[in-house]
Parts: sequence; structure tokens; C-alpha cells
Amino acid sequence: MKKILLLIFDGLSDRPIPELSGRTPLEAARTSNLDRLAEKGLVGTHYAMPPDDDYPTSDEAHFEILGYSDRKYLPGRGVLEALGMGIELGKKDLALRVNFGTVDENLKVIDPRAGNIKDVRTIAAHVKEEKIGPFTFRLYPGILHRGVLVISGSPVTKEIKHHSTIVSDTDPHKAENHRGGDKVLRPEPIDDSKEAKMTADALWEYQLLTHKKLSNYTENMVRVRQGLLPANFLLTRGAGFMGEVPSFQEKYNLNAACVAGGHLYKGIAKYFGMDVLDVPGATANTDTDVSAKVVESLESLNSGYDFVFMHVKGTDVVSEETGDFNEKIKFLERCDTALKPLLKFKGVLCVTGDHSTPCILKDHSTDPVPIMIIGGGTDKIKAFNEKKASGGSLGHLQGAEIMPKLLKEAESA
Ligand code: ZN
Repeated sequence: MKKILLLIFDGLSDRPIPELSGRTPLEAARTSNLDRLAEKGLVGTHYAMPPDDDYPTSDEAHFEILGYSDRKYLPGRGVLEALGMGIELGKKDLALRVNFGTVDENLKVIDPRAGNIKDVRTIAAHVKEEKIGPFTFRLYPGILHRGVLVISGSPVTKEIKHHSTIVSDTDPHKAENHRGGDKVLRPEPIDDSKEAKMTADALWEYQLLTHKKLSNYTENMVRVRQGLLPANFLLTRGAGFMGEVPSFQEKYNLNAACVAGGHLYKGIAKYFGMDVLDVPGATANTDTDVSAKVVESLESLNSGYDFVFMHVKGTDVVSEETGDFNEKIKFLERCDTALKPLLKFKGVLCVTGDHSTPCILKDHSTDPVPIMIIGGGTDKIKAFNEKKASGGSLGHLQGAEIMPKLLKEAESA
């Protein structure tokens, strides 16, 4: 059986941009290596999420692509981020993803990323650990504006069903105006249990307390004086407990590893029992060392791993944070140069994205995502971009169809 390398560029695909004469960043970028790979393989598009889904999130799209379509497998974003950050979660710890955001005095979200704050470590350290009633709240800083909140204490020891979480999001992320302007949502219990209500009430108390604490914190006051937005509210979402899921080894009989910079992606890999490899210089941003990631991925496949999931976050970051399509082009071109060693890879290589993040939206969209599979047949498509991919022989795939295709290619001699 051939080795498999799955390379996902987060938020890869885009929409036509007038300033680029109606081309997308991927079309406008000079990407000779991606185009040579397209020439060697089969090309098409996919939409990771089921047709009724109107907003693809990165975690859900990755679960689909990796073959874990059943919603019961999704443990909540908080759990995945926590695992990726190396936080040990007990079975009864409730983990929530946190965005360090900025709110005004009426708790209206000014910016869910506190002016694209680069480092929240000292701000998180200022909050430390809080006890409210029977609960302990522990806050962990992540990359950029991100973090994780873990709530423990006997009242959260409640069995949950499927994807339901014990409390709802306070981050109005999926509300219409995701860029700000919506009021923070008060956490609501998901069901009518006493435990869920207690958790939701304590979480709200914690958030008002930390809001006050953060608003008066020196570093935030300095930020305000400098004309920067203060990180004064912990926007939470994706509350969940560790769940049970068949490992990648059990499901596919593949010894798998992950090469990524972002905590969420490392967490997804860990949740599926993959080894997460440490690559110096791998970040979840456009400054990441793509070359080091490619080298590490190829070396791991040469030294015993059957499957490597390599993730690059920069494409999504630039599209979402600034929507600067010229920066996206530059990053794509830098990635393309780093992909050169893949031209000699003898296994099955799949290059794709998890969803579209059009620069004009600065947000995820349901537009189809180009995909190519190299290692088996070829078709007439000789370039890798949104327009060309839509005419490729792979057609229009669903996320759940990708792994079976890769396995089939790997098994064919
Ligand atoms: Zn994504």
C-alpha cells in the first residue's frame, strides 16, 4: 500500500476579485509547483460539509474530510483546542474555546479579536484561576487572540448526549454581524438539568467578573492609550467534554501523524489518536515555515508512518483578519516554492482546503474548494485553482468521499 499525504490549506479558495481582473488569489498567484502537481493528478472540487450546512467551521470540515461525519463524534471546539495545547482534560472537565475580544460598556462586541492582538499570555495570567460556587475556572492562553477555559467541579459531572454541550456560546460568532456590533450572549443551559443551569449561571458570573478585572488591567489600559483595543472580554464557545471516538488506526488501520502549527488541528489529530509531530517554525500564521513542514511530512512517511495530515493555517488567517488578497497571493506563492519536494513523492498526495474563506467576506463561505489527488490517474486539468478545478475529472465531491478515494488510490498498485 502506498503512503498518503493529505495537505490542507485552511480557507484556501476564494472568490473573483475586481482588482485582480476578476481572478481569485489562487488564480492570480504564480504557483508553478501546484500546477505541475495538478498536471500529474486528478483534479476536482469538494464541499466538505453536507448540503444543508450553511456555515463551514474548520473543526466540522476537518471531521468530514477525515471521515468522521457522524455529528456524535464532535466533542466541541473547546476540547479540540485544549488537546492541541497539551492540556490534560479529565472526563468531567468542561472545555470552552475562548476569543479574547473587545466589548463596550453595554457588552456589545467591538472586535472579537481585540484588534488582532498578538499575545494574550500576560492578560490570561492576570485572570489566573477563579472559584465560583462549586466550580473552578482555569484560563489558558493560546495563539494570538485564542485561549481555552476549563471548568471543573462536581456540578458539571453530567453525562451529555451527542454534540450537545452543557451551556451555549457567549460569543455571537455565528450571529449576522460576525465582525462586531452584536451583544455578548448570556450563556444558557442546553437542557433543563440543574447542573446545566448552575454551570451557565456560574459562567456568566465568571465572565462579568473577568470583564471587570480585565478592563482595569494595566496592560489593557496601556493598549487603550496607544489607540489599541483592549482584550476585555472572554468570548466563549464550543463547550464540550472529551468523547469516545474510534482512532485513525482502528478506523483505517493507518499509522498516522500530524504536522500543523494551530492548536485546533493538533487537537483534532490527537483526538483521532494521531501522533502530533513537533516542527520548529511551524506556526498557525503566514510566518510559518512551510518548507520545514513539507520536509517533516515526507521524512515521517519515509520512517514508518502510513498517513500524514499536514495543515497550513496562513491562507485562512490572511483572508479572515485583513482580507488582503495581495498578502494571500504572496503567501500562496511562498507555499508553492516550499512544495517543490512533493513533485518527487511516490505515494498518494492530496492537496485541498477545508472550506473557502473569500477575502471580500473576511469569513468562511460554502463555495466549493479545489482538490487534487496525485499518485494514480491524470486528467486534462493542468492548473490548480477554483475555475480550472470545477472542470476536473473528480467532479464535485463531498468531504466524506475524500478518505475512501485516497485509500482506493493507495491500495491500487
Ligand atoms: Zn478552516
